Amino acid sequence: MDEELSYGSDYKFIPATSISSGVGITVAPDVYCHTIQIVNICLIGEPDSDEFVLIDAGMPGSADDIISLTEERYGPESRPKAIILTHGHFDHVGAIIELIKHWQVPVYAHELEMPFLTGKTRYPEPDSTVEGGMVAKMSPMFPNEPINLGTSVQPLPSDGSCPELPGFSWIHTPGHSPGHVSFFREEDRMLIAGDAFITVRQDSLYKVLTQQEEINGPPRYLTTDWQAAWESVKKLQNLYPASAVTGHGAPISGEPLTSGLKNLVDNFDKLAIPDYGRYI
Ligand SMILES: [Zn+2]
Ligand SMILES: [Zn+2]
Repeated sequence: MDEELSYGSDYKFIPATSISSGVGITVAPDVYCHTIQIVNICLIGEPDSDEFVLIDAGMPGSADDIISLTEERYGPESRPKAIILTHGHFDHVGAIIELIKHWQVPVYAHELEMPFLTGKTRYPEPDSTVEGGMVAKMSPMFPNEPINLGTSVQPLPSDGSCPELPGFSWIHTPGHSPGHVSFFREEDRMLIAGDAFITVRQDSLYKVLTQQEEINGPPRYLTTDWQAAWESVKKLQNLYPASAVTGHGAPISGEPLTSGLKNLVDNFDKLAIPDYGRYI
């Protein structure tokens, strides 16, 4: 783990935020969701235990925040057993290099996401022309060059199990990115959806700022395969999740989750797929 790790050359702090920034929500006794500016990270593991995992790694520049909230929950000098990524977009790996260096822990991501995390391939350019308002128009400033985590990042096991996260399995939910995964725990039907669907419409600046809740498709300006994204949402609906933590927006559970997912699956072409854009 001592090799050179590097962010892309366009890595930078992004001055976007929401009223939920800094807010944490306990979704289950061992599942804690915390908002960093506009994106969520998730800590899984009972408070004060030394068996816990971090899902996703926040926005650029947020490492100190993530370390201090981890120490608040798990004690001074605590460190997760692993960092597991839903995918490699900049807002989910923003602090990962500082976290790897501080904690010396392994990172796992889907095999198909590895080229974007090992300096080989850049994601397609965000589509700033897509139907959908201010955030899409801001998207050209988002970091897009691949980061290089070298051998610190490893592919998730092909049997669907999650390293250091007993009870959860990973589910391939491509569309938003090729190697996007969600995590599901059968026992309490807990879903960590990542950006497969989200509970805020990022394409409306008003709703991003207020984090007004509704189930919607993946963030538009970065999604490149809409048919795959639709199939992925169907796959998640078929798990009948009881609670869901999404990459953006507030956690959701019970009837609003069930009916919101059904509405999204039934009307994905109208609700999620933009009317115009480069990846249609
Ligand atoms: Zn994303
Ligand atoms: Zn995201």
